[in-house]
Amino acid sequence: MKTKVAIVNKMGDPFVIEECELADLKEGEVRLKVMTCSICHSDIHGLNGEHGEYEGSATGGHEIAAIVDAVGPGCTYLKPGDRVINSLIREGCGHCEQCLRDRQWFCENKPMLPFRAPGPYTRANGEIPIQTNTCSTGFAEYTNTPEDNCVKLDDDIPYAVGSMLACGFISGFGAVLNRLQAKPGNSVAVTGCGGVGLSAVQGARVCGASAIIAIDMDDVKLEMAKKQGATTLINPKRDNVIETVQAATRGYGTDFTVVAVAAPGLKRQAVDITAGWGTICIIGHARPEQEMMADIGAMEFMQGRKFTGSVMGVTTLRRDIPKYMDMYRKGIVDIDSMLTHFFPLDQINEAFDDYIKNGAIKNVIVVGGTE
Ligand SMILES: [Zn+2]
Ligand SMILES: [Zn+2]
Repeated sequence: MKTKVAIVNKMGDPFVIEECELADLKEGEVRLKVMTCSICHSDIHGLNGEHGEYEGSATGGHEIAAIVDAVGPGCTYLKPGDRVINSLIREGCGHCEQCLRDRQWFCENKPMLPFRAPGPYTRANGEIPIQTNTCSTGFAEYTNTPEDNCVKLDDDIPYAVGSMLACGFISGFGAVLNRLQAKPGNSVAVTGCGGVGLSAVQGARVCGASAIIAIDMDDVKLEMAKKQGATTLINPKRDNVIETVQAATRGYGTDFTVVAVAAPGLKRQAVDITAGWGTICIIGHARPEQEMMADIGAMEFMQGRKFTGSVMGVTTLRRDIPKYMDMYRKGIVDIDSMLTHFFPLDQINEAFDDYIKNGAIKNVIVVGGTE
C-alpha cells in the first residue's frame, strides 16, 4: 500500500514528506496506523548518524502509539483495531534462562533487532531508506513492526501519553524503579531535567526518596522538576553543585545519581556528588568517543561506589506498561504536563527545531489523531 513517510535524504538533512510503497507484512509482523509519535533525543542522534553512520536516506521515530491496521501470519497477540504502544523493547520468549530471571532484554531466543537496517518503505526512485530505529518508523502514516514490539494501550489512555510510555517516560522512571530500586528515605539526584530526567524525578518520588535533587541549567525545567517532586533545585550557572548536594544529604552525598543528559564533565560531577556507597546510573549519552571517562579513578570505587547504566528503564513491556497506565490513571505519575507541543506530520522539521532550540520537554507528532 502507499503511505506518507518523513524521510531524510542523508545524515543530518531536514525531513521531506514523501509517498512510499509499504511492504507486505512478514511472519510475526503487524501493520500500524500511527496515531502519535513523540520526538526523542535518540531520534536526533540516530538520524544525524551519531549512533552510527549510514549511507543514503533514512526514517525515524520510535515513540509510537497506534492502531493495528492488519496482522501478518503467525500473530497471536493482536488483531486489527487494537490500540497499541510500539516500542523498541522487544517482548522476550518468556522461557529461556534470561527471561526466567526477568532479563528479557537478554532473551536468548529473540535477540535485539539491529539499528540502521533497511526499513519497509520503497521510494518512488526505488531506494529503500534505512530505518534508524530497530523495529518501525513512527514519523509516517503507516509502519510495519514485529508484534513482539507492541503492548496494548488501554482505551482511556490518550495516544500521546502512549507515545511517552514507549520510551521517554519509562527510560527515566524505570531507571529509578527497576535498575536502582530506590527505597523510602533514599536520596536521589537527577542531572538533566528533560523528559527522561523529569520521569526519573517522578520515579524517585514514587519510590519514597526523601531528598530528590534536580540539576539543570534551565530554570523552567527546574520548576517542572519541583512540580514532579524534586525537593532541592540546582542550577549550576548559579549554585555550587557539590555544596548544595552535601547540604541536602546531611553531608553524605546521594544514594543514587541519575545522569539523564550528556555533556563534558557530568560523569565526573556525578561521582563527586554520590556517596561512597552510592550508585551512579547513566542514561544520557553522546557519541561513543565522547563518552570515555578517563577522569574517574579506580580508587573511587573501593568503598563500594558503583557505576551502572540503564536503557529503556529496564522495562519488560507487557509486565510494566499496564502498571504504569494504572499509575497515570490514578494520578500517581504525571505525563500530561511533559507533553510540550503538538505538530502535524508535515511540520516535523518545525517540531524538531522547536525541540532543539526552545528546550521543549516532549514534542509530539500527531499523525492519525490524539484521541
Ligand atoms: Zn526514545
Ligand atoms: Zn527468552
